[in-house]
Amino acid sequence: MSEFSLDLNEDQLQIQKWVHDFAESVMRPAAHEWDEREETPWPIIEEAAKVGLYSFEFIANAFADPAGLLMPVINEELAWGDAGIALALLGSTLAVAGIFANGTPEQLVEWAPQCYGSPDKVQLGAFCVSEADAGSDVSSLRTRAVYEESTDTWVLNGTKTWITNGGIADVHVVVATVDPQLGARGQASFVVPPGTPGLSAGQKFKKMGIRASHTGEVILDDCRIPGSCLLGGKEKLDEKLARAREGKRSSSQAALATFEATRPSVGAQALGIARAAYEYALEYAKERRAFGRPIVENQGIAFKLADMKTRVDASRLLVWRASWMGATKRHFGSGEGSMSKLYAGETAVWVTEQAIQIMGGYGYVREHPVERWHRDSKIYTIFEGTSEIQRLVIARAISGVHII
Ligand SMILES: Cc1cc2nc3c(=O)[nH]c(=O)nc-3n(C[C@H](O)[C@H](O)[C@H](O)COP(=O)(O)OP(=O)(O)OC[C@H]3O[C@@H](n4cnc5c(N)ncnc54)[C@H](O)[C@@H]3O)c2cc1C
Repeated sequence: MSEFSLDLNEDQLQIQKWVHDFAESVMRPAAHEWDEREETPWPIIEEAAKVGLYSFEFIANAFADPAGLLMPVINEELAWGDAGIALALLGSTLAVAGIFANGTPEQLVEWAPQCYGSPDKVQLGAFCVSEADAGSDVSSLRTRAVYEESTDTWVLNGTKTWITNGGIADVHVVVATVDPQLGARGQASFVVPPGTPGLSAGQKFKKMGIRASHTGEVILDDCRIPGSCLLGGKEKLDEKLARAREGKRSSSQAALATFEATRPSVGAQALGIARAAYEYALEYAKERRAFGRPIVENQGIAFKLADMKTRVDASRLLVWRASWMGATKRHFGSGEGSMSKLYAGETAVWVTEQAIQIMGGYGYVREHPVERWHRDSKIYTIFEGTSEIQRLVIARAISGVHII
């Protein structure tokens, strides 16, 4: 039996250091500029692609870590560098997770590398679920996918909203309703290949935080895609729909399966922001003097820092546990994936606010990064399942009761 350990191994430590160095030397210095510009930081994505940090190979290698810790470690370090830029680098991974969760191995090999492109021509992926009237409630998606048997073509119609990389991506993975009577069980996921007519960008949203990450609408207007773009294939979908119509249990729901697999990594991004703010506030508290001594000598400040560090470390333990459980195929009997995202997301909001408080006026102005970190942190209680939805998942898992 292997010995229990929370130490990262040599490989994990090496990659952690490599990603950290990139975050420190490339992302941190650029963070303020791209937050102000509110644009996708193409030069940084290109730089990441050049060094091998933005590619399917890199992500596939991280996914393959038997302990499951590489993905959270990479996410934490990148978000420590800057959450907005980190999302610009990681948004494509969401699309890949959508392909991985529902596609065949052949579809993964065909489409996942196209979500990143090459160092000479970087590309983006987007995962499109949410709609104006269907965010948490993914069962009410209105985007329709209709099959045209004579031409083996799917025709997509609808509008997706708040999509990371939406409309500017090369590969869009779209969750649509095939049979509206069946709610979430009547949905399927599709790849819309680069340049497909009928897919266009709608409005781009101006946001509170993570402003280097593009968020926009995706309009699907008689968007025709080949039958081979249905993830998982027609036979599997027909079987799933037949089971649903007979009222039998289904093993997975297209959108939910993806979100479940990605939650600990999203929690790890929140953890990266929280850690950045804690470290910054600690250094500041040791330097800043008031009433003739460093402010850290006041229990009121030192105890805040003690609580911040405790919550940061607790977040990491929850994130690592859930990632390890996912990689080793443990049963998520208590909603451990949701716990990690819930706790890390709320910790990031809380820790960044404490950091502002510790820094007083300096914390509130853009001369220092903590106000940006606070703005960035808030999305982690909203996307990939709001805090309330995480609590719902956990409460249902622990009680066995269908709490509404
Ligand atoms: C910056 C950004 C990036 C995003 N990126 C993507 C993306 O790439 N792809 C994608 O598909 N989506 C994306 N989203 C959408 C995001 O996932 C949704 O905003 C989120 O799921 C919440 O949905 P909603 O906004 O419709 O809120 P609603 O579902 O309308 O919820 C409103 C409030 O009601 C609460 N609530 C709802 N139902 C319940 C319940 N049963 N019990 C208790 N409380 C409840 C919610 O927690 C929330 O507080 C993104 C959003 C943002 C802002």
